[in-house]
Amino acid sequence: MSILTVKDGHCAECYSCIRVCPVKAIKMAAGRIEILDERCVYCGRCFVTCTKGSISLGGDLDKVLGLLSSGRKAIAILAPEYLASFYPMNTAQVLFLIERAGFYGCEDTILGEEMVARHYLRYFAGQTETPVIRSTCPAATSWIEKYYPALAGKLAPVVTPMVAQARLVKKLYGDDCAVVYATPCIAAKHEAKLGDEVDAVLTFDDFKQLLRIRFLQTQGDLVVNDDPKPAVRRRYSVPGGFPRPTIAQHSMLDPALMVVRGVSDIEALAAAIERGEVGAKFIDILTCNGCIDGPAIDTDIGIHLRKQVAERAYREGLVKASRQLTFDQLEPYLPKIETYKSFTGKQVELPLPDDKALARILAEGEKHMPNDELDCGACGYNTCREEAVAIYQGIADWSMCFPFQRKVYMRII
Ligand code: SF4
Ligand code: SF4
Ligand code: SF4
Repeated sequence: MSILTVKDGHCAECYSCIRVCPVKAIKMAAGRIEILDERCVYCGRCFVTCTKGSISLGGDLDKVLGLLSSGRKAIAILAPEYLASFYPMNTAQVLFLIERAGFYGCEDTILGEEMVARHYLRYFAGQTETPVIRSTCPAATSWIEKYYPALAGKLAPVVTPMVAQARLVKKLYGDDCAVVYATPCIAAKHEAKLGDEVDAVLTFDDFKQLLRIRFLQTQGDLVVNDDPKPAVRRRYSVPGGFPRPTIAQHSMLDPALMVVRGVSDIEALAAAIERGEVGAKFIDILTCNGCIDGPAIDTDIGIHLRKQVAERAYREGLVKASRQLTFDQLEPYLPKIETYKSFTGKQVELPLPDDKALARILAEGEKHMPNDELDCGACGYNTCREEAVAIYQGIADWSMCFPFQRKVYMRII
């Protein structure tokens, strides 16, 4: 089943989703919108933009409800942004609900982030060919693999914290346990489908719904256990898995370290690397402002407060902890986890019309002269020529062009 689907009969044909899609992975034909999996990088921009709620996420909610009822050992892994999403609830209250829902255990991703951050550090140290592109964002790496395949070899070959943590959980709790990952990231849903570490991925919205349903289905004490517990102090990572020492070693002005956020900046970066114009050694890329601003964060509080809430919770957790432990102290007691991952180019073939075919398609939309090309963007494409190319590729038609349709209408009445 596709991760993003469009509900039949719900689409208002506003084309906002096409407008924001960075890779034009949305087909419009005969009044129906369709997400094209082979083109999609799962950035979630269309999902966030569709104010009609026509685009839905293929959810694992029923699957997890079934898992919890079946008695199979289920472990929840929470992406680090969970407290920003659950605000104003605190860690103890969230953990109470998770236990009440029937999860056998619950983990955060700090150990996974520490493992991948240390892998990055070692990889950076041994790398002579630069730039190295680093990303724990599956949407960003998928974009490079599909649309800039020549740069796939520049991606640091490291798994995401989700995968590292899930592998650790399977080793600690047993291979037969079910891993349920709660996240604000839509691309994580796709990533989970590519491996066998994660059994189900729930957006925070679905995860909260699950906790509500299970709270009503089950009975038990209403006592929240807030006793101090051991906590892991980050040594190698910041949330998201970026290596903390790399940040400490480079000032904001150091050209060796480059941070690129957002889809258009990644496109500009990729083009600049291909032209040999980038001097940075390490480049960190994300398609959004980080998971704290992920498409399925599900909170009304703004991004600045979210960051404060998440950071404060981490620091308060350390202060309250019965004991603070680092990854280095724990590692001798932990199973060995593979954190290597290879990236390969998966070029998406996009046929382009020659001049004659382009002129013919433009003429069908009554764009005979340059002045006929209004480039108004109403169809979801920036220019009439982009719309014509999309028509050539079979993912658009002239019914999407409002000025053209208006002309036709005015002739009829
Ligand atoms: S954003 Fe896309 S799916 Fe949503 S109503 Fe507009 S055209 Fe339809
Ligand atoms: S998830 Fe992103 S890439 Fe996929 S269709 Fe939506 S906007 Fe386009
Ligand atoms: S004139 Fe039509 S085809 Fe051109 S950008 Fe506007 S809506 Fe799209």
